[in-house]
Amino acid sequence: EEKESEEKRGEGGEDGKEEDVFDLEAVADDLLDFVASSKELERSSSANLHRPLHNEPQHAASFADMASFTKGEASSSSNDRSNTIRSQKEVKQALTQQEDDDLPLYTPHSQTPLPTLSVSCPSCQTVVPPKKFLRTNLRFCFYTGQWYCRGCHKGKTSMVPAYIVTNWNFKKFLVNDSAYEEILAGWDSPVIDMATANPKLYKTLPEFARVRRLRQRMTTIAEFIFLCKDSERLVGMAAKRSHFFATGNYFSLHDLVDLKGGGLLVELEGLLKRYQEHVMKCKECRGRGNVCGECNNKEILFPFVLSGGEGRKRCRSCGHVYHKECYEMLEATGAECKSCGGEGKE
Ligand SMILES: [Zn+2]
Ligand SMILES: [Zn+2]
Ligand SMILES: [Zn+2]
Ligand SMILES: [Zn+2]
Repeated sequence: EEKESEEKRGEGGEDGKEEDVFDLEAVADDLLDFVASSKELERSSSANLHRPLHNEPQHAASFADMASFTKGEASSSSNDRSNTIRSQKEVKQALTQQEDDDLPLYTPHSQTPLPTLSVSCPSCQTVVPPKKFLRTNLRFCFYTGQWYCRGCHKGKTSMVPAYIVTNWNFKKFLVNDSAYEEILAGWDSPVIDMATANPKLYKTLPEFARVRRLRQRMTTIAEFIFLCKDSERLVGMAAKRSHFFATGNYFSLHDLVDLKGGGLLVELEGLLKRYQEHVMKCKECRGRGNVCGECNNKEILFPFVLSGGEGRKRCRSCGHVYHKECYEMLEATGAECKSCGGEGKE
């Protein structure tokens, strides 16, 4: 009997590894820093404001970097801005969210039969019998796939990341108390890379196609609003959705729940509308638009259009914005971009 019980504990230990699934505190901290950065604007040291990103073209920045260059741009007390990110191209580089090498485990656990022998509770290590006066004395946790004592598992239920990501299942499952807190703490952390966590779902679910297009528009508008003097307020407007400024396929649990409910798409659409309206009105942001390189129309163009407007196309090398028709004409005739002369074209 001793031996079997020992084995059970051994297995429990193996499963215990999966508690790391959502324990990506570092990423969460980065995002929190980023969101909080606007408030720390005055207090931040000037040394922190100027990261030499010019010399690191391959640098894939974290959200902390986004925060630091936002501070740099917005700081009125800084005298030397030479090392601060200043161009739209640099914003793009800085907003490339780095891929995680460690793939989180997204295996949904099914309930195992109630153990027949006493088990060591994975939380408090107390050895508890499966039954007490004929009453079940253990509770199953669908987050870790293990049995817990009733002190460490009070019967709370929660949505479980693995069920959402793997089965698009938003039902609530029994989870142990610390798992409950962990899921809650990670609710807004954009740590789920859907492209690797569930590529099939990510490719086939129409909602994801829509959110990918919205994210692309967010990364485009970021080239303007991260460089604007008013970036602190503008970026703050995105609040818990600010990771959508970055490329990549990262989502928080909150995002996925709201994507399922429809609220995420509405929210991102609304944000984009407000940002586009800002860019059209703001003197500084308007200055980052350009006139079409092809047709000599004096109208200032941006890499987006307000609803009802005609399309835009950008030079793949330099990002110069053209009327869609003008760019297609240019391409059809094999002519080079009027802005960069086709420099850097492959
Ligand atoms: Zn316990
Ligand atoms: Zn502006
Ligand atoms: Zn044109
Ligand atoms: Zn060009």
